[in-house]
Amino acid sequence: MSQPSTGHGAPAEPEILESPEAVLSTLHKDGRRRWMYPTLSEGALWRRRRLVGWALIVLFVALPIIQIKGKPAVLLDILHSEFTFFGLTLYATDTILLMLLMITILLSVVFATALMGRVWCGWGCPQTIYLEFVYRPIERLLEGRESRRQRQDEGDLSAPVFWRKLAKYLIFFVISIGLAHTFVAYFVGWSDLIAWMTGPPTQHWGFFLMMALTTSLVMLDFAWFREQMCTIVCPYARLQSVLMDRDSLIVSYDPGRGEPRGRRRKGAEEAGLGDCVDCLACVRTCPTGIDIRDGLQMECVGCTQCIDACDAIMAKVEKPAGLIRYTSENALERKTPRILRPRVMIYGALLAVMVAIFAGSLSGRQSVEVNVTRVPGAPFVLLPDGNVANRLRFRVHNRTGQRDIYRIEALAPEGARVKVIGSPEIALGAGEMKHVDTWIEAPAGAFSGGSTLGHFKIVGAAEVGESPELDFKLLGPFGSQGGR
Ligand code: SF4
Ligand code: SF4
Repeated sequence: MSQPSTGHGAPAEPEILESPEAVLSTLHKDGRRRWMYPTLSEGALWRRRRLVGWALIVLFVALPIIQIKGKPAVLLDILHSEFTFFGLTLYATDTILLMLLMITILLSVVFATALMGRVWCGWGCPQTIYLEFVYRPIERLLEGRESRRQRQDEGDLSAPVFWRKLAKYLIFFVISIGLAHTFVAYFVGWSDLIAWMTGPPTQHWGFFLMMALTTSLVMLDFAWFREQMCTIVCPYARLQSVLMDRDSLIVSYDPGRGEPRGRRRKGAEEAGLGDCVDCLACVRTCPTGIDIRDGLQMECVGCTQCIDACDAIMAKVEKPAGLIRYTSENALERKTPRILRPRVMIYGALLAVMVAIFAGSLSGRQSVEVNVTRVPGAPFVLLPDGNVANRLRFRVHNRTGQRDIYRIEALAPEGARVKVIGSPEIALGAGEMKHVDTWIEAPAGAFSGGSTLGHFKIVGAAEVGESPELDFKLLGPFGSQGGR
């Protein structure tokens, strides 16, 4: 397997490792880290990816800032078990909906991977986007192109190189702080974040530790760990071989067209050679250090840099572009590509079913959730007016995005009424939950065999969604003249 570690411009010949012990493209044979110096190939796909990448960076920054119905567009408030997506807030009590949402997201990934391979990794993953379009460009700006940087890294540390490196890491640090804050804002919201940032540090040690840890991890990842996140850590990469088949879209070299590869020399006999001129431009540009000509590999993140690099070479040698291209294994073998195949149909059908169940559950979701329990103590009290009183505790949860005032109505038994202890008004803010103690008074004649079934309805003044109803067993005398 070819293992590149070269710079830009007129690079040294990449070291070729043919040893069977060469397991990972990012490691030397003795297990040491092989630093990558991928050259930049500014082709058509790179320009499109840069556009998509920056649009996604803007979106990533904006989502916790944009307010919809008074809440951030996306807020994953784990501390309070509230998960907001574009105006819809799911709570811990929405277990089924949250589970359905997670399964739907998972199935979407599975479905998209079966169809389009690692398009997400190359075009949408924050790891790729921030590394390729934020951190590496700064590095190139301050330390020069890859060949120069490699020479600097391998030589003695001179004063100018030291200062350039220091400036680079300082800028990386500032960006990492911003990135870490944006990331944390998804979990706590910017309003809390700003309050913590502007408050006295002694009151928010937890916040400072969390931010220090997150910033360190971001910095460590983008300044040092880099491609190893994709080749060693990311579990999605490990699932590729299971999720994809021979018709999935991949970035691939066309050996039928390229082989036998060989360098073109002036006046030399070219007969019998394929289109690959063995220039290694595709290898030098690969951020994970693989040679795409060795076939589909787990380390390939689908970044399309090898396509851009090879297309530029093909233009120079006046051959058609696309020796490396988006294709599928079957298409490379000149078999008819199939989009609708069993795997895609099964994943697609499962996804459609999940989306339908999720949408159905969402539309039937009640705007207020209510539970009732008996308050410990006497099971019931006989009142002087002949009624029987049960003390019940209602837990009322306003699941809407607006404040509302609720009342509890007793629909059964006939003549029953609800007396809220304390403030008769059950006012709840958006997403707020309250325990409300009540006396439920019902005529003694309604009880038979020591109990009767109470039926309650919780009505909101704003009349948002359906008013939930629930039953609860009321205890009372065994006969209409009975006592406690
Ligand atoms: S860039 Fe193209 S021509 Fe050059 S080695 Fe790679 S596949 Fe062959
Ligand atoms: S093989 Fe090509 S698409 Fe895959 S990671 Fe390397 S440069 Fe990117």
